[in-house]
Amino acid sequence: MRFSRLLIPTTKEIPSDATLPSHQYLVKGGFIVQEGAGLYNYLPLGKMVLDNIRSIVKQELDKAGCNEVQLSFVTPLGLWEKSGRSEDMGKEMLRIQDRHQNSFVLSPTNEEAMVTLAKNRAKSYRDLPINLYQINTKFRDEARPRFGLLRGREFLMKDGYSFHSSHEDMVREFELMEQTYKNIFTKLGLDFRVVEADSGAIGGSGSKEFHVLANSGEDTILVCQDCDYGANIETIFDNEAEVDALNALSYEELQTKQVQQKCSCGGKLYFKKGIEVGHIFQLGDKYSKPLEAHFLDENGKTQPFIMATFGIGVSRLIAAVIEQNHDQKGCIWTKSTTPYFVDIIVSNAKKDEELQAGEKIYQELQSAGISVIIDDRKKERFGFKMGDFELLGFPYAIVIGKKLQDGLVELVDRKTLEKSEYNIEDITKILQEKFC
Ligand code: ATP
Ligand code: MG
Repeated sequence: MRFSRLLIPTTKEIPSDATLPSHQYLVKGGFIVQEGAGLYNYLPLGKMVLDNIRSIVKQELDKAGCNEVQLSFVTPLGLWEKSGRSEDMGKEMLRIQDRHQNSFVLSPTNEEAMVTLAKNRAKSYRDLPINLYQINTKFRDEARPRFGLLRGREFLMKDGYSFHSSHEDMVREFELMEQTYKNIFTKLGLDFRVVEADSGAIGGSGSKEFHVLANSGEDTILVCQDCDYGANIETIFDNEAEVDALNALSYEELQTKQVQQKCSCGGKLYFKKGIEVGHIFQLGDKYSKPLEAHFLDENGKTQPFIMATFGIGVSRLIAAVIEQNHDQKGCIWTKSTTPYFVDIIVSNAKKDEELQAGEKIYQELQSAGISVIIDDRKKERFGFKMGDFELLGFPYAIVIGKKLQDGLVELVDRKTLEKSEYNIEDITKILQEKFC
C-alpha cells in the first residue's frame, strides 16, 4: 500500500475525555473516530488491526473444532423474559420496538439466542458435543462508556457456546477453551494472566478471566510469584467497597499494599492491574432448563443440555495491545496485530533516485510476503514522515535518504527506536529474518 493512497487522517486534536494512551493514540493516528458516546467508526488502519485480531481468534477456534455461525444482532425480548434475564440485564440492555409494537433488544450477549438455535437441531447425545461461536457486534448501554475502545457501547465480541451431554464433557471443553484462549493471546503477542473470576450476570458455577497486564487496567488481580495461580480480587474480598477501593488505586499505589495471604503453593501473592479481554464460564443447565433445550440421552431420556460459554473482547483487544505496548511517541504494534510490518520512508519523494530505490524494496518485500507500506508522499518532509511512523507504530521503518549514494539505507526499530545502517541489497533479507 502507498501512503499517498491510504486514508490516514492523523490529528493533533484529542478528545478531552481521552485520558489513556490507547484512546489518544488510536484517535491521533487516525485508526478510529468517535461517532457518539461509546460508538466508534474504524478507519482503514483500525479496520486492519481489527481484522488481524479477528482472524487469529478464528484460526485458533476452528483448529479446536468450534463452528462459526452468525446470529441476528436483534433478538426478541420474549427470549430474555423466558430465561428470566430481562430484569437482571437492567438498563445495559437496549430495548427497541418495531412498527407493530413488538419488543426486541440489541444483543448484549447471546446465550438465549444460541440455546434456541441449538435446540431441536442437536437432538440426541450422538449430536453432542458441539461448540458454536460468532464474532459479532454487541451493544451494552454502559453507564459510563469510556477509555475509547476499552469500554464502548457498541463493540465486537467473540461469543461461543458449547453444548454437552454430561458435566465431565463440559469441563473437558472448558479446559480446551482455556488452552485455546492462551494460544490466541500468545499469538497476539500479549503478556496476560488467567485468573479465577466472578460469574456476574452471565451466571453459572465456575469462571475464569483472561487479563492483559497493563497499569491502566480497570481490574485488580492477585497473582502468585511462583506458580500460575491468579484471581480477580472480586472473588477474594466479599466486601464490595473494599474491591472498589482497591480498583480505584493506581498501579503504583497498589504496590504499597501488602497481602497477607499466601498462595497454596507457598508463593508470595502480589497485586497487578489487568484489562479483561476474555471470560469463560461453566454454565450447566442455567439456560437450557428455562428455555427447554433438551436432548435424548443414551437411555432415551430427555435431559437439558449442559453448557459452557466463552467470550473474547475483540475490539477491546485493539486498545489492550496499545495499553501494553506504547511509549511517549505513540503506538507499538505487535507483529501479529500491526497493519503493516514495514514502513518504507522515502525522505524526499521528489527525488527520483530515492523514490525508485524505495519502490524497488517495496516490490521485493511484497514478493517476500511481508506487509509493507511506502511513504511516497511528495509534500511531506522527512521529519513529518518519521513522526507518523512513531505515532502509527509499525514495527520497522526503512529510511531512504542521503546515504543512498553510498548504497546504504537505515533500519529503524520502532520498539527501541534504534537505528542501524544496511547495504540496500541486504535489506529485504534482513527483514525476512525479522518477519519469520
Ligand atoms: P466488564 O467487567 O469489563 O464490563 P464483562 O464481565 O461485562 O466485562 P463479559 O460479559 O464477560 O464482560 O463479555 C465478554 C468480553 O467482552 C469481556 O471479557 C470483554 O473483553 C468484552 N467486553 C465487555 N464489555 C465491553 C465493552 N463495554 N466494550 C468493549 N468490550 C467489552
Ligand atoms: Mg460489563
